[in-house]
Amino acid sequence: MKYSLDVAHLYGNLLNTYGDNGNLLALKYYAKQMDTDLNIKVVSLGDDFKASDYDLVFFGGGQDYEQLIVSKDIPAKKEELTKYIDEGGPMLAICGGYQLLGHYYIGAQGEKIPGIGALDHYTLSQDHNRFIGNILIKNKETNEEYHGFENHNGMTFLGQGEKPLGVVESGHGNNGSDKTEGVIYKNVYGSYFHGPILTRNGSLAKRLLITALTRKYPQADLSAQKALKISETF
Ligand code: GLN
Repeated sequence: MKYSLDVAHLYGNLLNTYGDNGNLLALKYYAKQMDTDLNIKVVSLGDDFKASDYDLVFFGGGQDYEQLIVSKDIPAKKEELTKYIDEGGPMLAICGGYQLLGHYYIGAQGEKIPGIGALDHYTLSQDHNRFIGNILIKNKETNEEYHGFENHNGMTFLGQGEKPLGVVESGHGNNGSDKTEGVIYKNVYGSYFHGPILTRNGSLAKRLLITALTRKYPQADLSAQKALKISETF
């Protein structure tokens, strides 16, 4: 392979519900078509995360219990994660991971699970309810639509500098009331889509990989990679 990308799988041994790890399989599949190897490393409790060591980050979802464990370790990585995000590092964060990038998440038992506040959203709890089911969203700026399956207690409210990943056409989205789903902040994409999101939405996988390749190989001619047609499913 001509190119290689170092990928951090944040807390991959704890936050890995609903097939979220399939996102890495999808990234590998599309990376191969882009002549790119992925070196994936799980970065978990007690491990160092250094912004300059990684070209792409994946942060999956999980139960409140695991999220609470992660919330006690993640302050040690907060500075470097924030640096990675602020410098434009590409990241995909799903559900629990998405919540932990914001200020806090109030869990189903009312417990406050602090996030790193690198993004300005916060997440409240529903009263004995979860948003579960198929969901379709559209992003007018990119003219893309994303299909997925959501399953979450949290209701997320976006803040400063955050745009939604898309507008809800059917389903619940971030909070069931403002029609937003997920987030785009710099090169961070957050979403409640499980399923996993990248297997059904190849355009997003392509976007993440192209962003990572462009940052790592600024001199390279990536026109073939950019022109690659990516099907909706694989
Ligand atoms: N525990 C969180 C919630 O219920 C995240 C769930 C998830 O990652 N699927 O909202």
